[in-house]
Amino acid sequence: MDAVSKLISAAGHALGPKGVITDPKEIEPWVTDWRGRVHGSSPAIFAPASTEEVAAIVRLAAEHRVPLVPQGGNTGMVAGATPAADGSQILLSMRRMNRIRAISADNRLAVAEAGVVLATLHEAANDIGMRFPLTLGARGSCTIGGLTSTNAGGTQVLRFGTMRSLVAGVEAVLPDGSVHDGLTGLKKDNRGYSLDQLLIGAEGTLGVVTAVALRLVPAVAARAVDARGYAFARLWIAQRLPRRIAIDWLREQRLYRFAVDRGRRRAHHLYARRLRRRDRGARSRCAPRRAQPRHARRSLHAEGRPAHGALQQSRRQPRWQ
Ligand SMILES: Cc1cc2nc3c(=O)[nH]c(=O)nc-3n(C[C@H](O)[C@H](O)[C@H](O)COP(=O)(O)OP(=O)(O)OC[C@H]3O[C@@H](n4cnc5c(N)ncnc54)[C@H](O)[C@@H]3O)c2cc1C
Repeated sequence: MDAVSKLISAAGHALGPKGVITDPKEIEPWVTDWRGRVHGSSPAIFAPASTEEVAAIVRLAAEHRVPLVPQGGNTGMVAGATPAADGSQILLSMRRMNRIRAISADNRLAVAEAGVVLATLHEAANDIGMRFPLTLGARGSCTIGGLTSTNAGGTQVLRFGTMRSLVAGVEAVLPDGSVHDGLTGLKKDNRGYSLDQLLIGAEGTLGVVTAVALRLVPAVAARAVDARGYAFARLWIAQRLPRRIAIDWLREQRLYRFAVDRGRRRAHHLYARRLRRRDRGARSRCAPRRAQPRHARRSLHAEGRPAHGALQQSRRQPRWQ
C-alpha cells in the first residue's frame, strides 16, 4: 500500500464516512480550476467538520508525507485550489466547516468558520443591522477561508480595503497539526509575531485557516437617487435618438415637459451667447485687440460698466505715475 492509500484509510477512521470522498464522480467537479484552464487529479477529498478534525488530518498527512490542498468554493483565479495532475496531492475541502460561531453588532465582529459562504455571512450580518463590506461576483460560492487565503479585495476595496483590513483574527491549523488561535479580536495584540497577517494571502501554504474573526460595519440605512441627475441622464440619451422616437420616449418617461422647458432655457442661453459673441466681434472689429496696449484692452472690456472698468484700470496704473 502506498502512502496516499494509507493516508486515505487512516483518514476514514479520523473523519468518519462523511469526511472522506473517494467516488471519482463526486471528486471530478473540484479538480479543475474556476476558469477551466488547469486540470488536476486527486484520489480523495477530505472534508473535516471541525478544527480538531482538520488538525487530526494535517497530522496524519504530515506523518505520511502526503501534500494537502485546501479548498473553499474553488472560485480562485490562479488555480491555487487545484491539486497536481499526477494525483499525488489530496484535496482538503473546508465546505463542511460552515458555522457562524458568533456575531455581534455591539462588538462589530463576526467569527465565521472557513467554509462559510460569503453570501451567508452577508445575510447573517444584515439580520443584526450590520454589514460585512467585502463583496464580489463569486459571493454565492466563495468561502471565508478562501477569501482570507487570497486576501481578496472585491468591489468595495477602495473604501474598505482588502481582507487584510477586515480580518480581526485567524484560527488556523499549522503544518505540524498544532492550532494557532488568533480569534481574540483584540485591536491591540502585540504578543509576538503576527501569524494572522502571515496567513492572510498565503493561499494555504503556511496553514489551513479554520475560522476568522471579521470586522463588520453598520448596514446602509437608506439609499437615495438624485432624481434630477437621473432625469438629465435620460435627457442626454434622448438627444442621441431620432427626433420622433425621442419625443415618444420622453412622453413615456414623463419627461417631455421637462425636456421642452430645458430646451427653451437652453435655446435662450444659446441665443444670448450668440448675441454676446456678435457684440464682442463688433467691438474687436472696431479696435483689433492685439494692437492695443494692455490697459486700453481692459477698458474696452469694461465698456458698459464704466465704474468697474475705471476702478480696474486705476488699480493697474503703476504707483509711481
Ligand atoms: C466571478 C468572480 C469574481 C471575483 N471577483 C473578485 C474581486 O472582485 N476581487 C478579488 O480579489 N477576487 C475576486 N475573485 C477571486 C476571489 O479571490 C475568489 O473568489 C475567492 O477569494 C476565493 O475563495 P474560495 O473559497 O473560492 O477559495 P478557493 O478558490 O477554493 O481557494 C483559493 C486559494 O485559497 C486557498 N484556501 C482556500 N480555503 C483555504 C483555507 N481554509 N485555508 C487555507 N487556504 C485556503 C486554496 O488552497 C487556494 O490557494 C472573483 C472570482 C470570481 C469567480
